[in-house]
Amino acid sequence: MDNIFFTHPEHIIGNHLELVDQEAAHASKVLRFNVGDELYASDGKGSLYKTKVSSISKKSVFADILETDQEPEPKTKKVMVFGAIKKRDRLEFAVEKAVELGAWEICVFNADHSERSKINEDRLQSIVISAFKQSKRRWLPEVKYLSSLDDVFKQYQGYHSVMAHVEAEVQRPEPLKHEKNLLLVGPEGGFSDREIELAKDKGAHMISLGKNRLRAETAALTMLSQYLFTE
Ligand code: SAM
Repeated sequence: MDNIFFTHPEHIIGNHLELVDQEAAHASKVLRFNVGDELYASDGKGSLYKTKVSSISKKSVFADILETDQEPEPKTKKVMVFGAIKKRDRLEFAVEKAVELGAWEICVFNADHSERSKINEDRLQSIVISAFKQSKRRWLPEVKYLSSLDDVFKQYQGYHSVMAHVEAEVQRPEPLKHEKNLLLVGPEGGFSDREIELAKDKGAHMISLGKNRLRAETAALTMLSQYLFTE
């Protein structure tokens, strides 16, 4: 099972599924699947399908579902929240690594110190899908774009927050104790005093990511790495 394809849940009907667009082109033109070949696909909602290709073209691949394996939702949800990073490649790196490291959702917000730049949401979505497939995850993280940290707290009411703060006491973070968690990292310019106060007001736990000051994208992946084995 070297390759797992992604299929939207609406493209699964009864015992059949369809790959479209880039997924179909990848299966037919790059990997040269043929009718009768075994193909694995995931719907990003926990299901992995073992299928047999029934028809194939560069625009569409139809397959019959032979077996379905459903992975339950993780008990502990880690939402990776970070202030928008201006440099496109660094933002893409942060998003890709967040998928690989098990973020349940990814939330990019306009922080007080974020430098405004246009985010190409379609491009980020294809990076998310490609990292999802590469890392053989079953649950596809949704990416949300919010306009402030205030909106983050409104959107994720009932979540426990952990904020990476450069001035927090340098010590190893404690394991996550809650089921729904927001992991907050600031943009290149850091969190504003207002955002730090807001987070404290919302009960955020301030943590250190070590004595060195990390770039925002390094901080995001380091944050998730701290909780890698929290299921
Ligand atoms: N000049 C900024 C400041 O002093 O806050 C630096 C911001 S840093 C490049 C970007 C973000 O990464 C920070 O807002 C923080 O969330 C996180 N970060 C970087 N290094 C960290 C560390 N050693 N401990 C905790 N958080 C860190």
